[in-house]
Amino acid sequence: MTTIYNFSAGPAVLPKEVLQQAAAEMLDWHGSGMSVMEMSHRGPEFISIYRQAESDLRELLAVPDNYRILFMQGGGLSQNAIIPMNLVGRKGPGATIDFVHTGSWSGKSIKEAARYAKVNVAASAEASRYTVVPPQSEWKLTPDAAYLHLCTNETIDGVEIDFAPEVPAGVPIVADMSSHILSRQVDVSKYGLIFGGAQKNIGPAGVTVVIVRDDLIGHALPACPSAFDFKNVADNESMYNTPPTYGIYIAGLVFQWLKKNGGVAAMEQRNIEKARLLYAALDADDFYQNRVAPQYRSRMNVPFYLRDESQYEAFLAGAKARGLLQLKGHKSVGGLRASIYNAMPIEGVQALVDYLNEFAKR
Ligand code: PMP
Repeated sequence: MTTIYNFSAGPAVLPKEVLQQAAAEMLDWHGSGMSVMEMSHRGPEFISIYRQAESDLRELLAVPDNYRILFMQGGGLSQNAIIPMNLVGRKGPGATIDFVHTGSWSGKSIKEAARYAKVNVAASAEASRYTVVPPQSEWKLTPDAAYLHLCTNETIDGVEIDFAPEVPAGVPIVADMSSHILSRQVDVSKYGLIFGGAQKNIGPAGVTVVIVRDDLIGHALPACPSAFDFKNVADNESMYNTPPTYGIYIAGLVFQWLKKNGGVAAMEQRNIEKARLLYAALDADDFYQNRVAPQYRSRMNVPFYLRDESQYEAFLAGAKARGLLQLKGHKSVGGLRASIYNAMPIEGVQALVDYLNEFAKR
C-alpha cells in the first residue's frame, strides 16, 4: 500500500501515534466506561485531561507563571475581534493598534480590528507582494499603541517572522502563531499575547489556544460577549462555557507526543532540516519557483509555482498517485503549497522532493 503524506495547510496531518491512541481510547477512556466526547467538562476525568494538557503546553513553551493559557472556541479569525475587544480598553477611547502587514492573515486582522480601534499599518510588504518582512528600521510604531499585532507565520504567503521585534516601552506584542506555534522555540516573555487555531500544529479545528499575560486580562469592552472576555475564561479554567473538550483531549495527546519526541527544541531541529531539503529542491530547478526572499521563508508553509502553467493538473495527479496529498495552493494565490508541520515526518518531505525532481525531468 502506498504511504500517504498529507501536506494540507490545515486542518492538517496529526501524529499517527496520537490518532492510534485516540482510536484505542475512543469507547472507554482509562477505564471510565465513557468516550472523552461523552464526559462532563466539570467531571474529574475531563478536568484531569484539561489540567494535564495545560501544564504540558506550559512546559513545552516554557510559559512564565504570569501568563494564563486559555483554550477557547472560534478559531484564529474570531481572535481578530476578541483580542481588540479585550485589549483596547486598557488605553481608553481613541486607542491605536499597530500592525505589520506581511500577508493574507495579518491583512484580515487589520480589517477586523478597524471595527474596534484606530488602526495604524506601521509597515507593509504589499509592494513586494508579501515576499519579505519589511525591515524593522522602517516600522512606524505608535509610542502608546494598545498593542502591536504580527502574524508571525503567514500560512498562505509562506513568510515567517523569526524574531520578536523591539517595541516602545509598555506596548505588548500580539502574535498570531496559528501556523507555527510549537514548531520553533520562542521566548514567550517577549509577547503580551500569543494565539493560534489548533488545526495546524496542535490538534483538531475548534480549539484556539491563547497565551496571555496577566496584566492584559480584565479590560474587556462592555460590548465584549462574556464568553469571550479573557477574565471570565481565565477565572474559570477555560470552562466559563463548555470548552471544545474532545479537541482539547487530542491537543493534550499531541503535547505528550511532543514531549516524548524531545520537545520543541528537537522539533525545531527536525523542521530546519525538512525546510532545508524542500527549499533546496525547489531552488535547484527553475521549473519551480518560490517567491519569498530566502531569509523570510517559512519553515512550515512552502508555496511554490510551476514555470509551465499547463502542468498543474498533471503535477497534482502524479503527486496523488504517489500518496502526496493536498498540495494545491490557496485559492487566493493559486499554485502549489506544501505544509510541513511538526507531524510531517522527514520521509514525507523526502518523498515530495523525489517527486519534484522526477516531475521536473519529465
Ligand atoms: N491566522 C492564520 C495564520 C491562519 O493560518 C489561519 C487559518 N488558516 C487563521 C488565522 C484563521 O483561522 P480560523 O480558520 O481557525 O479562523
